[in-house]
Amino acid sequence: MSIDIKEIRKDFPILSTQNRGKPLIYLDNAASSQKPQCVIDALSKYYSFQNSNVHRGIYDLAESAENEYQNARKTIADWFNVTPDEIVFVRGATEALNLVAHGLIQTILQPNDQILLTQMEHHANIVPWQILGKSKNIKIIPIGLNEDGSLDREELSSYLCDENTKILSLCHISNSLGTINPVKEIIEEAHKFNVKVVIDGAQSVPHGKINLKELNCDFFVFSGHKVFGPMGIGVLFGKKDLLDNLPPYQGGGDMIDEVSFDQTTFSPAPQRFEAGTPNVAGAIGLASAIKYLAQFNINDLEQHENNLLQICHDAFEKIPEITIHGKSPEKAAVLSFSAKNVHPHDLASLLDSEGIAIRTGHHCCQPLMRVLGVQATARASFALYNTEEEAEFFVKTIKKSLSILG
Ligand code: PLP
Repeated sequence: MSIDIKEIRKDFPILSTQNRGKPLIYLDNAASSQKPQCVIDALSKYYSFQNSNVHRGIYDLAESAENEYQNARKTIADWFNVTPDEIVFVRGATEALNLVAHGLIQTILQPNDQILLTQMEHHANIVPWQILGKSKNIKIIPIGLNEDGSLDREELSSYLCDENTKILSLCHISNSLGTINPVKEIIEEAHKFNVKVVIDGAQSVPHGKINLKELNCDFFVFSGHKVFGPMGIGVLFGKKDLLDNLPPYQGGGDMIDEVSFDQTTFSPAPQRFEAGTPNVAGAIGLASAIKYLAQFNINDLEQHENNLLQICHDAFEKIPEITIHGKSPEKAAVLSFSAKNVHPHDLASLLDSEGIAIRTGHHCCQPLMRVLGVQATARASFALYNTEEEAEFFVKTIKKSLSILG
């Protein structure tokens, strides 16, 4: 493997800080990843030397802010092998899903049509469809899971061929189970029945290189803060012809063609969906994060993260009190688990006192928790900067904590 984790760690200033007086071991990357210095510098540079509003100015500074903003769009489009006019800047995956749900429900859905989701979805990919689908009496069908946390493909197929199904919206990688869905195959199957596919890529973008042209999904969303970029910025990708047929999501400045008190005409995509002053610094910071990721061989990163997962997974399998949730053969470096008679919060508190940050709770997946028969799980999630020593110390501390709490 040609990546040097020690060198990578030097890029992330927060990793040399302490948590409760102990060296920070950050295993909550599925919630938000840490930021490399280049992203912090890009934000600081923008506000120190480039800050100006975009779109309207004719002076030098405004022109340069506009160029930086559009260059950021191009960097992101290139990374995903799509065109810049297919990239809409939004606040994050949540806003992108609300935008798509709003547009698709208004345009392609008729009363009583159905939308397929899966039981492993984050609330961000459930609640918008529910809220916005109510007006048209849209039926939401959650596709079930197999015992190992993989998607029940037979059930999915049985609904894809149903003529009332118009949309399938599913996560690429589950934030709670780590399951990697075979989205390419699923998209191909859905398209045979003219079903539009929305992919929630919030958990997949940090872990791999995604070629959206090859994937051929209709829409794809992700958040900057989970991919080493800033908070408050994210992306909606939509195929150009589909974006052009979606109605605006919010009205305001910079998304219009012509306004009068009688009526307004709108800009083409992506501007039509970017009403008001955008998060220019966020977009520049996100482009910097993508460039940071681009310097690595992605296969090496995947291998490294999988190795960390394996270390913890193998050790947990030998601890009788622990149940691992999600054992799909295709799995990302996310490990959710429960310990018999121990509340996940108590476990997380003991880990915290040793410097280890993990997440506990329902992970914004309450329907999934019901399927698993638990209120909450503990979850460790790994990123490129985590080390084998950290994974081993995590396992050791779990064992110690269970002997205290058990
Ligand atoms: N989808 C998935 C799979 C997620 O894991 C998350 C966040 O945890 C989201 C959507 C929502 O992301 P955000 O809160 O950044 O909008």
